[in-house]
Amino acid sequence: MKKRLLFIDRDGTIIVEPPEDYQVDSLEKLAFLPSAISRLRQIAEEMDFVLVMVTNQDGLGTESFPEADFIAPHQKMMDILTGENIHFYKVHIDKTFEHENAPTRKPRTGMLTEYFAETYDLANSFVIGDRLSDIELAENLGAKGILIGDKTSERAILSAKNWDEIYHFLQNSARRVHLERKTSETQISIELDLDGEGIYKMDTGVGFFDHMLDQLARHSGINLTIQVKGDLHIDEHHTIEDTALALGEAFQKALGNKQGINRYGHFSLPMDDVLTNVALDFSGRPWLVWQADFQREKVGEMPTEMVEHFFKSFADSAACNLNIKAEGQNDHHKIEGIFKAFAKSMKMAIYQNPDDKRIPSTKGIL
Ligand SMILES: [Mg+2]
Repeated sequence: MKKRLLFIDRDGTIIVEPPEDYQVDSLEKLAFLPSAISRLRQIAEEMDFVLVMVTNQDGLGTESFPEADFIAPHQKMMDILTGENIHFYKVHIDKTFEHENAPTRKPRTGMLTEYFAETYDLANSFVIGDRLSDIELAENLGAKGILIGDKTSERAILSAKNWDEIYHFLQNSARRVHLERKTSETQISIELDLDGEGIYKMDTGVGFFDHMLDQLARHSGINLTIQVKGDLHIDEHHTIEDTALALGEAFQKALGNKQGINRYGHFSLPMDDVLTNVALDFSGRPWLVWQADFQREKVGEMPTEMVEHFFKSFADSAACNLNIKAEGQNDHHKIEGIFKAFAKSMKMAIYQNPDDKRIPSTKGIL
């Protein structure tokens, strides 16, 4: 998967640009924009953008702006951001004056040539800044521009008053999530893209469970990578339960505010002797109705009692209503049929109508 980038301006975007001289040249002048830290942290932790800082610092290193004056507040800002788990892949600082017309100065892209590589998805990347030159930079990169502050621009894909608006916009711009969940019992890493191609890679340590999660990705069209290091020396319980909890959380995050989704999904499918029915509602309210019994204690290494527990845990953390029924004889068929019908229901429920981005509830919130 190509990487998406967030090119983020510094002054006037992350930190306040001093109105008197536009220079943050002392610790006293260092102040963050409201919600910049908390929203950047959410963006860094929940979304899969590579963060890059791009800033013009007029005449940095000259008498008008000695480097030493710049370093202390800049380093303090970086330390605060790093301490909040906000890591920038690179920080690009242009030190020229505007009249020099340097190729490295925003909105020109001289400092950013490495990002034209095939590994980056510039078309789905964003520049966030408070000036029109930031929006021009986005155009020069083939990316999209987000303006923050009081100004608006028709050339920007979003003119946001604050970081809260930017966060919600980005959250809805791509339904992708990277999630890490660590406890004393399990370490879980999940990558989820709701608008994928059914590409998957599972490694939970429980073979049959992997096979069921493969079905989920394959038949719902999502891209899903799950890696789990669980306490399998005890038993499979924590591994399966915590994977369900993390997966549900990943779905909830990837769905964001659920604008334009179908919300409901249902599917009925046979598998030889078995008939399974799954109905799903991303209602925001967890509930599981379960009507399926198993005769065997385990299928492969997966305890059959953990199948219901998987879906209960998923419903709890995804805040969805799940109604699951299976009838027939063969336990392997029943479980596989349930996962396949769940996947098909999921595909229907998460479908996002590109022409109708309303939230599918008369309450206006889900
Ligand atoms: Mg700026």
